[in-house]
Amino acid sequence: MSKIVMTTPLVEMDGDEMTRILWQMIKDELLLPYIDLNTEYYDLGLEHRNETDDQVTIDSANATLKYGVAVKCATITPNAARMDEYKLKKMWKSPNGTIRAMLDGTVFRAPILVKGIDPCVRNWEKPITLARHAYGDVYKNVEIEVPGPGKAELVFTDASGKEVRETIHEFTGAGIIQGMHNTEKSIESFARACLKYACDTKQDIWFATKDTISKKYDHKFKDIFGDIYETEFKDKFNELGIEYFYTLIDDAVARVMKSKGGFIWACKNYDGDVMSDMVSSAFGSLAMMTSVLVSPKGVYEYEAAHGTVQRHYYKHLKGEETSTNSVATIFAWTGALRKRGELDGNKELVEFADKLEKATLATIESGKMTKDLALITSLKDVTVLNSADFIKAIRATFDSI
Ligand code: NAP
Ligand code: MG
Repeated sequence: MSKIVMTTPLVEMDGDEMTRILWQMIKDELLLPYIDLNTEYYDLGLEHRNETDDQVTIDSANATLKYGVAVKCATITPNAARMDEYKLKKMWKSPNGTIRAMLDGTVFRAPILVKGIDPCVRNWEKPITLARHAYGDVYKNVEIEVPGPGKAELVFTDASGKEVRETIHEFTGAGIIQGMHNTEKSIESFARACLKYACDTKQDIWFATKDTISKKYDHKFKDIFGDIYETEFKDKFNELGIEYFYTLIDDAVARVMKSKGGFIWACKNYDGDVMSDMVSSAFGSLAMMTSVLVSPKGVYEYEAAHGTVQRHYYKHLKGEETSTNSVATIFAWTGALRKRGELDGNKELVEFADKLEKATLATIESGKMTKDLALITSLKDVTVLNSADFIKAIRATFDSI
C-alpha cells in the first residue's frame, strides 16, 4: 500500500522525558508506516533549548505562524531542581508560555470519552470543554522580592509622559510584590474565539472571573465578554438556542460539579490551567484530555494536556516496565494531521486521522489499556499493557478495521 503524501509540512515540536519516548513510538508504529510524514522538526527537549538559549522555541512558534499547524510533545518547564539536573544556563521560561504568547489565542481542552471509563462526577453525562485564555496574567508577570521596609507603587506612564500612580503597600518588613497585565486585544480575541467555538459546536458557554474582588482587572474581562456577546453573538445564540452565562468563579466551580456537562467553560489563564487538570482527571485520566491552541492569526497547535510524566520516565531509565497512556499524544497527532488535511484539501490525511482515533478507542473498549485506565474502568476482563505494547495493540486494531 502506498503511503499518504503530505503537501505542506506540519510543525513538529519534540519534547521531554516519557512523552519523548512515546512520541518516537507513535511515529514509528502508527504514523511512518502509513504516511510519508512531512514535518519541519524542532527539538524542544530541554537540553536543546538550553544549547540554543531557547531560540528553538521561538523558531518553532514562528514556523507555526508560517505553516499554520503544529503538533507539540510535552516539555519540561524548568524549576530549581531542573537547573541542577540539566545543568541549565538559565531557568528558561515555559515553552508553552512562550509559544502561547507568540500565537495568542485560546486553548480548548476536551476529554476523550470512551466506553468503560466513567467520570467520577456521576452527574457529568457529557464532556465539559475547557477554554483557557492563553495570554498574560500570572504567566507574563513581573515579581520583586521585597527585602525590607519601603513603599511599593504601581506606576503607568503614558506615551506623553503622564503618570498614573497607586500605592500597592507600605511595607514595614520583608515581603513580595507581583505585577500582571493583559491587553484588551487579547481578551477580545479570547472572547470571540470562545463565543465562536460555542456556535460551531452548538454548546452553551460559561465564563467566570472574580470581578467582585478585582474591580478593574477581572471586571474588564467580564465587560469585554459581555459587550462582544451583546453586539456580535446574541442573535446567533438565540437562533441556535444556546446560552452565554456569566457568574463568579467560585459559583461556577460549585455549579460545574452539579451540572450534566455538555458546555464550554471559558476560564482566565490561571483558572484554566488548574481547572482543566481537575476536569480531565475527574473525566478519567489526565492522559485522556486533548488540547488545541486556536490563534486569531488562524493557526493551530495541538498537544496533550498532561506533562512529561517524569515518574514513569525515571522507571524507564532504570530499565523498569512502564504503562504510560499515549492516547492524548496520539490525539494531538491526529488533531494536527486532520487540520493539516482540511487546510490542504487532503482527504486521505483526514480519513487517516479519523481511523487512527477510532482504532485507539476501539482498542481500549476491547479491554486493552494502560494501567491508569485499568484502575478506573468499569470493563471486565481487562488486559494491562505496557507503553509499547499498547501502541502496538492500536496498530493491530488499525490494520484490522
Ligand atoms: P504530569 O507529567 O502530567 O504527570 C503527573 C502524574 O499524572 C503522573 O505522575 C502520572 O501519575 C499521571 N499521568 C500524567 N500523564 C499520564 C499518562 N500519559 N499516562 C499515565 N499517567 C499519567 O505532571 P508532572 O509530573 O507534574 O510534570 C512533569 C513535567 O511535565 C514537569 O517538568 C512539568 O514542567 C511538565 N509539564 C509540561 C506540560 C506541557 O508541556 N504541556 C504540562 C504540564 C507539565 P502516576 O505517577 O501516579 O502514574
Ligand atoms: Mg497545568
